[in-house]
Amino acid sequence: MQPALVVHGGAWEIPDVAVEACRAGCRRAFEAGWRVLEAGGPAIDAVEAAIVVLEDDPVFDAGFGSHLNLSGRVQLDAILMEGATLDAGAVAAVERVRNPIRLARRVLDASPHVLLAGDGAEQFACEQGIPLCRPEDLITPSQLAAWRRCRESGHTSAAHFACEHGTVGAVAIDATGRIAAGTSTGGTCCKYPGRVGDSPLIGCGCYADDEAGGASSTGWGEAIMKIVMAKTAVDWLRAGEEPQRAAERAIRLLSDRVHGTGGLILVDRQGCIGASFSTPHMAHAYRDPDGNLVVSP
Ligand code: ASP
Repeated sequence: MQPALVVHGGAWEIPDVAVEACRAGCRRAFEAGWRVLEAGGPAIDAVEAAIVVLEDDPVFDAGFGSHLNLSGRVQLDAILMEGATLDAGAVAAVERVRNPIRLARRVLDASPHVLLAGDGAEQFACEQGIPLCRPEDLITPSQLAAWRRCRESGHTSAAHFACEHGTVGAVAIDATGRIAAGTSTGGTCCKYPGRVGDSPLIGCGCYADDEAGGASSTGWGEAIMKIVMAKTAVDWLRAGEEPQRAAERAIRLLSDRVHGTGGLILVDRQGCIGASFSTPHMAHAYRDPDGNLVVSP
């Protein structure tokens, strides 16, 4: 079958100055993942490759350049899920790993667990040969400045404007019909230390099942968790819903039932794509049915 891939760089109000960087980042990530799929590689490798590019790009809230938490530290969450086996690997609240999606992959491949957090996750990274960085290596001057502004203004919502940005994710189906999905985030700006959102939670931040489809979520984690958004949307695909309608329905449920905002990308078993969001923008990229690359916003 023809492979398919969709990547996102978060649902938020992207300021004009950041639009080009978000588009370029999504395009580069898409191309990295697409190279894997074109070469006949597995969906899980394509998703990992795409997310690594997004984590390394400081315009997104994942890996390097993530938001700082209340104590001025970066704490990262990530998940990868494989639709053939329903195996998943996830990490939460890691502070010394540049590419948490790579660590999530090691959890999936080399541990009996699904989710490792904090010090234990970093210990596992060392055992798996993933080098630890210094916590400050993940902090950009602009995120430090944003954090200082938020702190000085008492964390008003105005101070957070244009700061609530850029969780990243990808969903792919490869030429053999295997589906994978992944999500990576620095979480919300000025979150409480130790706060973990939807992103690394199976069924909330991501889900993949070869028998139905795959999904990656972004948005207000506390609301997304309540409706188990990724799994809910994949179950609608299982029931025969078109991906675009399923994505729109999930975002409507997020708003109507738990007053949340966010975005969702979906791929079904035929490689059809859906993308929906209730924020002003969601940076995302995919190929349309004619093979043209669509990059938004
Ligand atoms: N869902 C992420 C979280 O709550 C944030 C986001 O996607 O913008 O941690």
